[in-house]
Amino acid sequence: MSMDTSSLSQHLQGVQQRISQACKQADRPRQSVQLLAVSKRKPAADIAALAAAGQRSFGENYLHEALDKMAQLAPLALDWHFIGPVQSNKTRAIAEHFAWVHSVDRIKLASRLSAQRPDALPALNLCVQVNISAEPSKSGVAVEHTLALCQAIHALPRLRLRGLMCIPAPASPGQPQSAFAAMRKLLGKLQQQGLPLDTLSMGMSGDLEAAIAEGATIVRVGTDLFGARNG
Ligand SMILES: *Cc1c(COP(=O)(O)O)cnc(C)c1O
Repeated sequence: MSMDTSSLSQHLQGVQQRISQACKQADRPRQSVQLLAVSKRKPAADIAALAAAGQRSFGENYLHEALDKMAQLAPLALDWHFIGPVQSNKTRAIAEHFAWVHSVDRIKLASRLSAQRPDALPALNLCVQVNISAEPSKSGVAVEHTLALCQAIHALPRLRLRGLMCIPAPASPGQPQSAFAAMRKLLGKLQQQGLPLDTLSMGMSGDLEAAIAEGATIVRVGTDLFGARNG
């Protein structure tokens, strides 16, 4: 179901205000944090309404659904970010259609994306997904293998390695989320090794303030913009 334009634009204002407030609290410039609107399982009409309210960057998790909406919205020239699990047989379409990929955790996927990025497009912006909470059988590279993976990706010609992304395990009740601080520390370590990284993609509807306090530069917000998702 799609949502009416005025509610979407109110939600956008509300989320923008939360980001501004969190930046103030953290003594960071407002423009150091970008809002990525996560539009998975939401209709093209909702994306168009949010675009009309000024939002330019959208995140999608499922390739076929994303390509369908991109085709419908092509005249709007939006910025599309792929944030879902990357499968080898999908890398060509991702390399051809997206400006960013946040969810790469293996060199094989990065090599394919680099080889398949069309020459006519600028380098594909890329974040390495880190399994920061060390959850068994979750996506993301282990913390201790992150430096080697980033160095290998940095050497690939058609990618621009920007930084790190995470989806932490929920904090337990009464315990503060420690994953965001660990991400900040890891990014700092990679920068010290000479990698020119400028991006921490972390924080969602429920925890964007905590992520911004620890240096998030892209927050990925779905529910608080578009409403709850079905299924
Ligand atoms: C769905 C999703 C989000 C948005 O989560 P909300 O809680 O709806 O804001 C952010 N990042 C990723 C990778 C997602 O899959």
